[in-house]
Amino acid sequence: MAATSEAEHVVTNGMSQYSRNERNANSGIVVGITPEDYPGHPLAGIDYQRRLEAHAYVLGGKTYAAPGQLVGDFLANTPSTSFGKVTPSYLPDVHLCNLASALPDYAIEAIREAIPAFDKKIPGFAMPDAVLTGVETRTSSPIRIKRNEHYQSINTKGLYPAGEGAGYAGGILSAAVDGIKVAEALALDMMAIK
Ligand SMILES: Cc1cc2nc3c(=O)[nH]c(=O)nc-3n(C[C@H](O)[C@H](O)[C@H](O)COP(=O)(O)OP(=O)(O)OC[C@H]3O[C@@H](n4cnc5c(N)ncnc54)[C@H](O)[C@@H]3O)c2cc1C
Repeated sequence: MAATSEAEHVVTNGMSQYSRNERNANSGIVVGITPEDYPGHPLAGIDYQRRLEAHAYVLGGKTYAAPGQLVGDFLANTPSTSFGKVTPSYLPDVHLCNLASALPDYAIEAIREAIPAFDKKIPGFAMPDAVLTGVETRTSSPIRIKRNEHYQSINTKGLYPAGEGAGYAGGILSAAVDGIKVAEALALDMMAIK
């Protein structure tokens, strides 16, 4: 899915589809990054995301198409020029290019290493015609609002940071679990006050 939220930026987001009868099998390849990868002020992680999203817009041909590359070309570090057996489902479009600059080198290298390894477990994962589409930069939040063992903000009493935006989840299920934990903590605190 297109999840772009500002002009001249491109963001993709893999979305579970209710139908299991679509033409393509989709999956996300996630590379973990840490604050050490984007040193600076507390919101440096958001600046980092925005830089990647602005570059993805350029790589995608400045039309809000998402940059894409065939797996075979990606592993060989050569630009893709035409699709093979796989037609991507991403709208508005996928613009073929070389994704080598779409993410930091360590992330690209990690994905190049991972794809053949995944293929050993899931034969066909490294199919040369498979299409890589990017960039999914918002798998989880680049900031975290610190909280104590009672799930309360460490500097604002009565504030209970929860879920993805607060930096405690990355996905529907983990956000739901975090929400339950915080609700339980809030209920306990309320009972303690009584
Ligand atoms: C396009 C897309 C596809 C996705 N697909 C998947 C998927 O397939 N599987 C998966 O596990 N995850 C998926 N995710 C991620 C998933 O949606 C999130 O991880 C999850 O919704 C986080 O839940 P949350 O409750 O923490 O935050 P959110 O769901 O973001 O909820 C935050 C709520 O707070 C509201 N809000 C914001 N500011 C204020 C304010 N000032 N006052 C009052 N309300 C406010 C917002 O309107 C929103 O309703 C997808 C995300 C996107 C964008």
